[in-house]
Amino acid sequence: MKIFAFRGINVYLHWTWAIIAYFQLKLRYDTYSHVGWAAAEYLTLFLIVLLHEFGHALACRQAGGRADTIMLWPLGGVAFVQPPPRPGAHLWSIVAGPLVNVILIAPTVAAAWLYNGGVFGETRGNLGEFLFIIAVINIALLVFNLLPVYPLDGGQILRSILWFMIGPTNSLLIASMIGVAASAVGLLISLRLAMIWLSVMAGFALWQSLAGFQRARAGMKWENLPRHRHAACPGCGSHPPAVPGWRCDACGQQFDMVATAGACPHCQAQYEAIPCPECGRHSPPMDWLRAAVMPTAR
Ligand SMILES: [Zn+2]
Ligand SMILES: [Zn+2]
Ligand SMILES: [Zn+2]
Repeated sequence: MKIFAFRGINVYLHWTWAIIAYFQLKLRYDTYSHVGWAAAEYLTLFLIVLLHEFGHALACRQAGGRADTIMLWPLGGVAFVQPPPRPGAHLWSIVAGPLVNVILIAPTVAAAWLYNGGVFGETRGNLGEFLFIIAVINIALLVFNLLPVYPLDGGQILRSILWFMIGPTNSLLIASMIGVAASAVGLLISLRLAMIWLSVMAGFALWQSLAGFQRARAGMKWENLPRHRHAACPGCGSHPPAVPGWRCDACGQQFDMVATAGACPHCQAQYEAIPCPECGRHSPPMDWLRAAVMPTAR
């Protein structure tokens, strides 16, 4: 369900959110003298999550990437971001989320502290309890997100830092392996303790880490393909793989488009431009050859 859009970023609310809201209200009902405070607490929690996700999305945009969807669901939020394939752009897109929580520490803690008369832990009435719990939630979210377990922000920050040293594929391989190990342990412990929410989250993290691991393995395969050294993409400068990896639209068969200069050997269809498997840009065969000779002429 779409709730609103800001600067072209669409914010969606997953329907299961309402179910969890109901249980959360029941759980927190006794803390306050009126259920409205429990509702305000839950809504503020999601406001903080939303600001965190906007941190990711706006930073990704700033780095030149794509970000147009934020999904809020019971376990938190997800900003669907596609930063450019550079470690710095990835790092900034990820760091900007937790940075929002860091910025929120001072005002939320100060409000709770001042209202409750300079004592932390003891609260004065509904508003005091509300301010206290919001400050705690913000810090808890920050600490949890910074755990170095892929796909949490901390795990992705670790991956971006490793990327500077060992490249995109090996960094993803290491970060996702740590993620698989940690979330598997987390899943076993939380199942053992019958903590349902923690089990669901650990299960989700395990699934995402395995997906990251698969992507890293696919990336290794891709990097190990033989390359056409005499041709390069005019858009991104990468050497195209020397394999029959292009599909002919006319006959549906696969062929090596660079080797044949755009001519399908199966049906003789001729293509004016060769699409780059790395960046997607279409360029005429001659430009692929020129770019390999003069790599600066982009
Ligand atoms: Zn985040
Ligand atoms: Zn390219
Ligand atoms: Zn063909």
